[in-house]
Amino acid sequence: MEFALSEEQALIQDSARRMVERDIRPVLDRNDPDVSLPKEEMLGIYKVLAPQGLTAPRLSAEEGGGGLSMVNYGLMYEQLPPWLAISVMGHECTISRIHAESTPEQRQRFLPDLFAGKKICGSATSEPGAGSDPRGIATRMRIEGDEIVINGRKMWITNGSVADVIAVACVGETDAKGRTTLKRVIVEPAETDVEIREIETTGLRQGHLAEAVFEDCRVPRGNLLEAGGDAARMLTVTWNGNRPLVGLAAVHLAQKALDMACEYAGIRVQFDKPIAGHQLVQKNLADIETAVVTSRLVCYHALEALDRGQRSNGLSAMAKRYATTACEQAINLAMHVHGGMGIACETGLERMLRDCRMLPVPDATNEILTLIQGRELTGIAAFR
Ligand SMILES: Cc1cc2nc3c(=O)[nH]c(=O)nc-3n(C[C@H](O)[C@H](O)[C@H](O)COP(=O)(O)OP(=O)(O)OC[C@H]3O[C@@H](n4cnc5c(N)ncnc54)[C@H](O)[C@@H]3O)c2cc1C
Repeated sequence: MEFALSEEQALIQDSARRMVERDIRPVLDRNDPDVSLPKEEMLGIYKVLAPQGLTAPRLSAEEGGGGLSMVNYGLMYEQLPPWLAISVMGHECTISRIHAESTPEQRQRFLPDLFAGKKICGSATSEPGAGSDPRGIATRMRIEGDEIVINGRKMWITNGSVADVIAVACVGETDAKGRTTLKRVIVEPAETDVEIREIETTGLRQGHLAEAVFEDCRVPRGNLLEAGGDAARMLTVTWNGNRPLVGLAAVHLAQKALDMACEYAGIRVQFDKPIAGHQLVQKNLADIETAVVTSRLVCYHALEALDRGQRSNGLSAMAKRYATTACEQAINLAMHVHGGMGIACETGLERMLRDCRMLPVPDATNEILTLIQGRELTGIAAFR
């Protein structure tokens, strides 16, 4: 067992950290932290991410991707500001899904600009009536001559309002045995009639979460992805990788909160000494650090298991639920170490708490993750 990063991993982590400080932080700083970034700024960031392999880390170099192991991807991912981390995950796992389900012609048509960061994409699965249970998906597609016609409504599409390509999960036509399967259809909003609106949220506000309404939305028949079979299976494969990554986005925030709390405790004087010298403050700092370290370890553990090809449904679920919960508590505690300054907006901790509060929701809520882990432990599914 090896807990230290290899020389190569330390370099990968450091170069991602430097990329954020050099190329991304200035973009964030010149924009309102509570407003979704304009599309030109997003494209500028994606142009920086592409050469690092972050637009398609899970695909091999031969396939056009970054060819990163999940652990190495996680090391880089943890360095990204969390709203951008969620955007990157929306983009790159949509690419993985398109790649897995498309013909060589479709790949050639849709993927090169997405790999290069010249276009941005996202996946539309959730709906007003279908969240935790994707079997509730009601958006329908039908084939009419050379076209696909889509009707329905999608919610919470990461990158939705800046996406050039959206992979929309739809209920397909009924087969000869009366069965329907989930199909993915590529929608290019600039080429068709789809109404997209941003949804205002508690946190991750420089990012983009959108809803989309499809009313007889027509796209070319060639936009139907059929080569990979049932889209539901591919959703599960990508979710297992996504969950520890979302956990690491929470770790990013909690690590920052720990650094801020340690610094503040060292300079804030009460009862004639820095508050860091009071035993109960030290306990709070120790609790924050424990949350950061254990969360990071369980997320890396889940990613490493995926790299070894292990079935990791339970472990990935555990990693996300544990890390998002522990890190949210850690940020709250860091606010407490700051006393009144912890709740002052200028300190930035309340924004970090709001950002972290978003993370237990995407790629399965805590209850669903608990049930996934419970199913792995018992062999019994308790969802319905
Ligand atoms: C930042 C962010 C990014 C997202 N990105 C995307 C995206 O790119 N594409 C996309 O399609 N969606 C996306 N989503 C949507 C997300 O996947 C859903 O919000 C999530 O799956 C939960 O669905 P819901 O909101 O409908 O909640 P519901 O499923 O309605 O759940 C409501 C509550 O009921 C609980 N619950 C549900 N079923 C059970 C059960 N069996 N047992 C116990 N409790 C249960 C849940 O845990 C939750 O607390 C994103 C969400 C966020 C916050």
